[in-house]
Amino acid sequence: MQRIGIIGGGIVGALTAYFLKEAGFNDITIFDRQIGQATAASAGIISPWLSKRRNQKWYHLANDGASLYPQIVKTAKITAAAYQQTGTIITRANSTTVEALFALAQMRKISAPMMQEIRIISADEIMKMIPQTQINSAGVYISGGARIDGAQFVSEVNKYTQVKYINESVHLTANGKIEGYPEFDKIIVATGAWLQETLIPLNYAVNVRPQKGQLIELIDAQTITVKKQPVLMPEGESDFIPLGEGRIIIGASHENDAGYDLKPTPIIKDYLLKSAQKINPQLRHAQITKMRVGTRAYTPDFAPFFGYLPEYPNIYVASGLGSSGLTTGPMIAKLLAELIINRQTDISAYTKPISEYIKFKN
Ligand SMILES: Cc1cc2nc3c(=O)[nH]c(=O)nc-3n(C[C@H](O)[C@H](O)[C@H](O)COP(=O)(O)OP(=O)(O)OC[C@H]3O[C@@H](n4cnc5c(N)ncnc54)[C@H](O)[C@@H]3O)c2cc1C
Repeated sequence: MQRIGIIGGGIVGALTAYFLKEAGFNDITIFDRQIGQATAASAGIISPWLSKRRNQKWYHLANDGASLYPQIVKTAKITAAAYQQTGTIITRANSTTVEALFALAQMRKISAPMMQEIRIISADEIMKMIPQTQINSAGVYISGGARIDGAQFVSEVNKYTQVKYINESVHLTANGKIEGYPEFDKIIVATGAWLQETLIPLNYAVNVRPQKGQLIELIDAQTITVKKQPVLMPEGESDFIPLGEGRIIIGASHENDAGYDLKPTPIIKDYLLKSAQKINPQLRHAQITKMRVGTRAYTPDFAPFFGYLPEYPNIYVASGLGSSGLTTGPMIAKLLAELIINRQTDISAYTKPISEYIKFKN
């Protein structure tokens, strides 16, 4: 049986291990240093269907990725705290725009049965569904939209797959091995925004830049949060994600000039808190319990990429998942596992060739 080593234990690393395990691989080790992980920091909204992005490869990844969750959840017995189809609502002030979004939703549903019920929802209805909120605009409701707690989900998946998990920063050697460890037959480098750093010993230039993202978690005993409230994506404000029992997540920031910095900043904290209070004025009494900070990976065309390195065919990489990586991540992981099993797997419907993003410097 082949020995598999995975560097990076975010959504890509954990789910590649999951799909390999389902295919009968039993000797899998994940190395993760748990610094800046986007998966753990994320807002966790899974609802790609109303995106206006024209990149069809991205949409295939996002739609197919979102659709993989229910089966993974069933197989790995993932709890509702880690993944739940709560529904999602996106609002727009202009009623023509709401109608256009609804038309798009109807069209997308033809190839996305996971969306389930879709309808235009009035501001009054939204305020009933998410008590105490003050909403002025109508929106589109998608009952199949979901939210995921990235850290919890990955931890539950790892428990199911029974991978060997090593909390450590590891390095590749110049001949493509993991320094200090016995040889692996295949290595998957799923180090997100740090892919360039990981591939330095192999002499690759990687076209990926970091983007800082911050969000806040609030708790307010007076806030009524009934179970299974939808995620709200209000126009012009931060996303509002009720977790139940008075807990709410608000986020996230998209900071392109902060590099790999992981310090929470007061300006963003205030901005997110004000945004939350605009949606639910009751939250002026809320307490901020946590601020999460993570680093997203962006390519110049905002598209993820994955595949094997032509010069090191036993090394597979993935990066560039940007702000929708929890949505595209499951499909990327599935395709990586399929490539490991059969190198001829055709991934061209989902990503451009890896050479568009990575150059071997010789
Ligand atoms: C604030 C925020 C909000 C977001 N909200 C959403 C959302 O609502 N919906 C959505 O779909 N997506 C969202 N995203 C995007 C999504 O979280 C990411 O695209 C996705 O999680 C990336 O997964 P990954 O596995 O590629 O990388 P990561 O999750 O970043 O994992 C990479 C891991 O590799 C580790 N690592 C790096 N180098 C080494 C090394 N040498 N040795 C060991 N370990 C190493 C890192 O520490 C990290 O833990 C959000 C992201 C952020 C930051």
